[in-house]
Order: sequence, then structure tokens, then C-alpha cells
Amino acid sequence: MGQYLDYQVRLMRQSGTPTIHTSHLGGPLLWPAAEPWPVCPDRQLPYYEGDPPNDYFIPLLQAFQHDFPDIPFPEGSDLLQVLWCPRYCRQRNGMPSPVVRCVLRAGAQVEFPLSEFPQARMPIKGLVPESCNVQGVREAMTPFSDPRARLLGGYAGMHGEPVFLRCSACRTRLWPLLTVSGVDEEEQFFPLAPWLAQVQICWRCPGAPSRLLYETT
Ligand SMILES: [Zn+2]
Ligand SMILES: [Zn+2]
Repeated sequence: MGQYLDYQVRLMRQSGTPTIHTSHLGGPLLWPAAEPWPVCPDRQLPYYEGDPPNDYFIPLLQAFQHDFPDIPFPEGSDLLQVLWCPRYCRQRNGMPSPVVRCVLRAGAQVEFPLSEFPQARMPIKGLVPESCNVQGVREAMTPFSDPRARLLGGYAGMHGEPVFLRCSACRTRLWPLLTVSGVDEEEQFFPLAPWLAQVQICWRCPGAPSRLLYETT
């Protein structure tokens, strides 16, 4: 899994209502009822006074292998779920940033799916995606800053060179996994907001450790 790709997969809107069995942004996840819904591990900074700390995560993306065959799923998994805390509760380089979590699982093993999803109590509107089905369209990598939603694209930086983070567990270079932004004027999955984020993932370590590049424009 050491090779990076020379293409990216654009996320394009598709008709239909997202369900736990579709690939979509936002929307419900195929999540085992017996598995706790993720809660943000970081305490809320005193950013907005009176906010309850440790809010629920919200779904960013659910992608099944049969819809996204380009995702290099580790053996035994065929479903990718990306969630984040829709708040600025982590400080990186003096910049507030959301916290992200990736989950890889075998969809068929979710026998009893969760039907009622905990709702984040105080999400920031600009970080909540519209709930819509998506499909992937493979295209050449854009060698410049690009706010359009895509998977497996290599370029995240708004200002210059791409940035590759390292896995905090195994120290290998992470893979660019999901790039989304509030400035994508073509698809507008998020309310117009001046940020660009790229989730980077480690395919080798158990638990799919990930890190987030987050920039305001
Ligand atoms: Zn948080
Ligand atoms: Zn790792």
C-alpha cells in the first residue's frame, strides 16, 4: 500500500434518499446497534461559552466498495465510514479544527443496525454536510488547490505544495482519503464556508487511524 495513485475520484451528487445501505455524504450510517456512537474525545475549548463538552460525531461520508472500487479496502472490509466532530474543539498550529474518525468494517457483519442516531447538540452549521447520495467519477489528479469533494486525491494545500501527514502509530506516510470544503461551488455539499479539509488515513494500522488537514481560506 505504499504507492500513491495518479488519479482521484470526484464525488458527484446522485438522486435518491440516503439510507444506511447507500453511499452518501451526511446521512445515516450502517452502524451496529451494539456499538457506541462516537463521541468527540477532545473537550470543547472555551470557544463558545456554555457549549456542552464532548459532543457526538456526525457522519461525513459512507462509501461501499461496490460503489467505490478504487478505495484500497484492507482485507475483510468493504465499507468506509468517516465522521467528524462538527465543532472547532482542537487547536492545531493555533488554528481551531474539527476532530475526525474513520471506520472500516464489513457491511454484511452488521446484523442489527442502529436505527436512531444520536444528534450532535451544538453543531456548527458550516461543518454539517447536506445529506445526499454520491457516486464516484475517476479523473486525473488536479495538481493545484481544488475545493471539489473527492476521494484519494493527493493535493490538499490551499497555498502551495501537497502535505502528507504521518501515522502517529506506525509513522508511515498517510494516504489522502477524503477532501471536502465549504467553498466547492460546483456541488455545494456544505453551506458556503471558508474552509478546506482533507482526511488522511493509515491503511496498515488496526482501527484505521486518521488525521485531518484543515485550513481556512
Ligand atoms: Zn469535538
Ligand atoms: Zn499506521
